[in-house]
Amino acid sequence: MIPGNTNAPAVTGALDDQLGGGSDSSVSPLDGALWLIRHGFAVFPTDHPGLDRCAGIGHGHDPATCTDRGKHPCVPFTRAHTLDEDQVRRSFGEQLRNVGVAIGGVDGPDGARLLVVDSDRPGAIEDAAAAFGYRHTPTMRVTTAKGHHDYYWTPGSLQLGNGLGALRGKFDGDVRGPRGYVIGPGSVHATGVIYELVDPEQPPVPAPAWLLTALQTPAAPSVPRPAGGAPRQGGVPRGALARLIAFVLDSRQGERNGRLYWAAQKAFQHARAAQMDARAVANALRDAATRVGLSTAEAEHTITSAYNSRNAQ
Ligand SMILES: [Zn+2]
Repeated sequence: MIPGNTNAPAVTGALDDQLGGGSDSSVSPLDGALWLIRHGFAVFPTDHPGLDRCAGIGHGHDPATCTDRGKHPCVPFTRAHTLDEDQVRRSFGEQLRNVGVAIGGVDGPDGARLLVVDSDRPGAIEDAAAAFGYRHTPTMRVTTAKGHHDYYWTPGSLQLGNGLGALRGKFDGDVRGPRGYVIGPGSVHATGVIYELVDPEQPPVPAPAWLLTALQTPAAPSVPRPAGGAPRQGGVPRGALARLIAFVLDSRQGERNGRLYWAAQKAFQHARAAQMDARAVANALRDAATRVGLSTAEAEHTITSAYNSRNAQ
């Protein structure tokens, strides 16, 4: 059983074993959440893969058919996050939930903001640092199913989002800024892997200058070229598509599918008018949507719906 959690729905097999017992600081979502709030990280409940159906909320999200389990927020996390122990004990002790860290809800030293670098494989951020001629700066790290999350402080004066900037194409992963969230230690991935703190004594350190510079360097928008030659005179299709991609990239949790659907309809109209390859447009939209956190399946479903809608014709 989960410590202190007699009402939780039963989980079976390996998952049950992994959730039970132990004295690690991050062995269950409740343990992880308590550790997080005691260290100043605002938390909120998310879906847990041991539940029969996704507990996540969100526009355009069907809990019964969700295929990205264990990650979706149960609350509007940009507002509904907490540092309160009683609330954490209720949220994670009385129900089966993973723990999310609301990045914008964390106040760092001297007004610093939190930034989490999400490596999709072990060593990804180390390789990116090397590609820029630097060594990786060790910091608070949480291992994930595929790689790891590195927690850094960034100056409060910087407006960093979820964009990769110049890291794009040089880094296998994502970054999460103040409008984003990550799944925290003690949580269970859909594969059964537990998110774990590498060293509970290691706090976040300031992000290295090379990383801040790279993140603030605008990336070339991934807009497909018109089929068969140069952009048209006036560049209207290219510019419009770049703006639509940017619109998708600027989406928050809860509005991503709606914004993607709207942008995709417009983008397919432009593609048709400019005789561009619809597949290339769809790929660019899907890349943008997955970058803001939609699963590939969700993004493709929404893009296909938009393509087939009357407004895209
Ligand atoms: Zn879900």
